[in-house]
Amino acid sequence: NFSALSPIGFIERAASVYPDRAAVVYGDLTRSWAETYQRCLRLASALSQRGVGVGDTVAAVLPNIPEMLELHFAVPMLGAVLNAQNTRLDAETVSFMLDHGEARVLITDREFSTTVGSALKRVQQKPLVIDVDDPQFEGGDLLGELTYEQLLTEGDSEFIWQLPDNEWQAIALNYTSGTTGNPKGVVYHHRGAYLNAMSNILGQNLPPHAVYLWTLPMFHCNGWCYPWAVTAVAGTHVCLRHLLPEKVFQSIDRYGVTHFCGAPVVLNMLLNAPDEVKPQINHPVTVTTGGAAPPASIIEGMEQLGIQVVHAYGLTETYGPSVFCSFQDEWSLLPLPEKAAKMARQGVRAPAMERLMVADPTTLKPVAMDGLAMGEVFMRGNTLMKGYLKNPSASADAFEGGWFHTGDLAVWHPDGYIEVKDRSKDVIISGGENISTIEVEDMLFRHPAIMEAAVVAQADDHWGEVPCAIVTLKPEGEVSAADIISFCRDNMAHFKCPKRVVFADLPKTSTGKVQKYALRNMLQQLDLDD
Ligand code: ATP
Repeated sequence: NFSALSPIGFIERAASVYPDRAAVVYGDLTRSWAETYQRCLRLASALSQRGVGVGDTVAAVLPNIPEMLELHFAVPMLGAVLNAQNTRLDAETVSFMLDHGEARVLITDREFSTTVGSALKRVQQKPLVIDVDDPQFEGGDLLGELTYEQLLTEGDSEFIWQLPDNEWQAIALNYTSGTTGNPKGVVYHHRGAYLNAMSNILGQNLPPHAVYLWTLPMFHCNGWCYPWAVTAVAGTHVCLRHLLPEKVFQSIDRYGVTHFCGAPVVLNMLLNAPDEVKPQINHPVTVTTGGAAPPASIIEGMEQLGIQVVHAYGLTETYGPSVFCSFQDEWSLLPLPEKAAKMARQGVRAPAMERLMVADPTTLKPVAMDGLAMGEVFMRGNTLMKGYLKNPSASADAFEGGWFHTGDLAVWHPDGYIEVKDRSKDVIISGGENISTIEVEDMLFRHPAIMEAAVVAQADDHWGEVPCAIVTLKPEGEVSAADIISFCRDNMAHFKCPKRVVFADLPKTSTGKVQKYALRNMLQQLDLDD
């Protein structure tokens, strides 16, 4: 007679064992674990009195503020489902998600009142709207019936919650970015959220009382599940409403941050910040990067700043990080560039992911572990989504053959590490040869004048496809397209080198991923205009 695995108990433990330790720090505000737990109980109680119960969706359009952390515990206490929405989406997508997810309640913030206000005009079923009226933010409008603090006053701090009867019960709903139509709603369960938190702790050596800086959006696959993982170690959540390099460095210094996360683009932004904002780092700090392949040069740069890198790979469907590559002692004698090249590989499966393989997508036969044969990455295990909400055919396709299909192409090294070469839809096939856009981008990042680069396929009468690079230069960087092409030709196989270089800003998602479909459209438009 076992009870369900669920992350809810993490907060009760933190509050009872470490009541006075700081749970959250946000600007001038610090709250202890006892206070934070009390607020979660009152929130759960108040939502329950307003009719929220098992299976109901509570949506949130919030920045990285303490209330977002509280929702990660209060909503599951009711058996309800947290739908944290991307704060950079347009009104139409927000209203689509509110209706599709059947949100009963929406908790939002004045910063997003324009988009959310117009989304609420379009919805078919209006949720109860609650505003966080953050004294540390000015601007925007209050949209709701009441504020978050008013709601808390309705709640009972003696509220008694229970673990779910069934650990496969939904805990969260996260929509994919929806580059190919309406976003798909990825459903997480309590068991997966618990185990992913454990995997994050082990994969990144999160110590007791880790001090975690929220540089990753908390809405993005539940902030890769860190609200749960950091609470499990009774750590401190340091919240940042806006991601600015000087604030990140100041927070590391001021609060003794030990861990933070960011897509490679965030790390690149930190590396390119002026030297005067970069502090002398005198305590161990680890950054976990993922969401896109980090160029080895970025890993090198972070290590030179004194920040250790853990590389994580995963998808929304896998609760975020489910493959880790962290520094191994046996690499310690290698020169930094070689170490960084090893760490640029995606790594090995996290403990909670039962199986992982690189295999032929048609036969599901694993490829040779020789670092050369390319196949698709497949996973099976506890930290995979339940399925896509109200979309059985997409769910069946995603799990065809009993394995989750990632859509990523990789090679498998003899030491068991996988190395993602490209998304299957982004790989370039030129004269019958596969070209990994990640490999070409890595080379471009090594050019001293280049700040950011992305490579996409361009149709070619002779070769079928050829690589085209879109490049943003550093403010002081000066280099011609021809020089960039010859830099690549000097350093890599000629068939892999870009045949064309376009200078432009790169369109990105809210998590800092380059939107390659937008770049392909941009190139088409440029060609039409010519
Ligand atoms: P959508 O699936 O709707 O297009 P998305 O790309 O933002 O949205 P995510 O689930 O956030 O969806 O992204 C997962 C993808 O990100 C992976 O399939 C992989 O292509 C890429 N990715 C994530 N981490 C890494 C990494 N460490 N290295 C290389 N690629 C990565």
